Order: sequence, then structure tokens, then C-alpha cells
Amino acid sequence: MRYTADHDFHIHSTVSRCCKDPLQTPERILQYAKENNYKKICLTNHFWDERVKSEAEWIEEHGYKYLTSVLPLPKADGLEFLFGAEIDMDYNGILGISPETLCKLDFVTVATTHMHLAGNTVKEKITSPEKAAEIWLSKIKNLLSMPLPFHKMGIAHMTTGHIMKERTPEVIKLLKDEALYEVFSDCADKGIGIELNTKTIFNSDEEKDILMRPYYIAKDCGCKFYLGSDAHRTEALNSAKENFERIITILDLKEENKFPLAR
Ligand SMILES: [Zn+2]
Ligand SMILES: [Zn+2]
Repeated sequence: MRYTADHDFHIHSTVSRCCKDPLQTPERILQYAKENNYKKICLTNHFWDERVKSEAEWIEEHGYKYLTSVLPLPKADGLEFLFGAEIDMDYNGILGISPETLCKLDFVTVATTHMHLAGNTVKEKITSPEKAAEIWLSKIKNLLSMPLPFHKMGIAHMTTGHIMKERTPEVIKLLKDEALYEVFSDCADKGIGIELNTKTIFNSDEEKDILMRPYYIAKDCGCKFYLGSDAHRTEALNSAKENFERIITILDLKEENKFPLAR
């Protein structure tokens, strides 16, 4: 059976500082879920847990008080509205969430590819695809080496422009099949979800082949996938479902490829 696009596990609301759309409220997000007949959605605003010490500077407005300011979430029959967060890893490899907070959240998506945040997630601005590829692998390996509840965690947008904007395909191309098989076999063993993010955009068939290769390998390794619109504005909600279907078709995903928590 074809993988059904019945959830969205990466959505921002006005609590995220980068969300500039005042209409992007939990109520509006719930409406989007109802319109698309989703069964589960998860709110994942940006978050750095102030309980976790980091050399890097994180904005106060992404602390716990702000993250939880949207609670309680609105409800609808037949639909689960999960409460989660999008978390970061600083340039020293420290993950921005404490075990106590992780316990309280339904799901977290880990951004290992926020390489545009010099001084926070990467020490300095990345100027070479080689360096970006090295960081790409090392952050995921570091994450997988931690004792974490992977059944309620995912790896966010692995192939989007956060890495090196339009040069992102150059970075992904540098990742060797062998290295990807190693990393995704570990992801499959640990049970962490792999995000299919609607911001994965390609301008040609060649770019499509490059950007989809990691996901084909992940699928081959037995990884489980969840969908994430990463919507920061209501306009992005409107095209999310169509984009999910596009990626499902490209990867020829079946229901058995779905991340258990998203079922
Ligand atoms: Zn992100
Ligand atoms: Zn996001």
C-alpha cells in the first residue's frame, strides 16, 4: 500500500522568531490538518533548552517559556496534535535539549544541517562544500552516539538549502555511498525517523538525482520516514500535501516505510 500523506511532523508557529506570519497560529495549523485529512500533526518550534550549557549564544525567545506558551493546543476529533520542538546541535556537538525536557515532549526533530548559523551550529561561516560534507556526517554520527529516545526523534531536512544554499547539491554529491550506508544503517538500527521535507527542491533531473540519493540509500537500509512541511507561514501550508505526494512518488514509499510514531 502506498505511503499515505496523513501527518505533518515539522511545523512552526508564531513562537518561532523566524515565523513572520501572524496568522500561523496553532488554530490555523489545526485547520490545515483537518482540510487535508491528517491523523497526526506535530508543532515543532525552534528551541534551545536553557538547562543545556553552550558556548554559543542562543536567543532567549527560543527558550522553554516561549516554546510552551502555546499550550494547551487546540483539539479536533480524530486528530492528534502532538507537541514537540526543532532542536539544534552547537559547534561543539552539544545537543540543545535536556533529558528532563525531552521527556515532556512528544517528538523532536533535530536540525543537523543548520549550517547557516555561524557562531552557533558551526564555528564560522562555511565556505567549502568539503567542510559542509564533513560536518553533515559528523553531526549525524554524533547524534546517533548519544543515549536518546530515538523512537520519538527525527533528523530534519538533510538536503535543503540550510547547508550551502544553491551549492547544497555540491555538498550532497561529496557524500560517498559507503558513508551514507554506514550512517543510515545506524539510523535504522536506532529507529530514528528520517524527515522528508517539502523544502527539498531541485531545479533539474540531475539535481533531483543528487538530492534524493541519500533517501534511496536510507530506504535501502530500512530507515523509516515521516513528512515535514517545515511551514513557517500559512501560504506554505497550502502546498504541503502536494509536495508530500511528490516526494512519496519519487521514492516509491509504502506504508511500511512510515516512521512508527507517525502511524
Ligand atoms: Zn530547520
Ligand atoms: Zn523548521
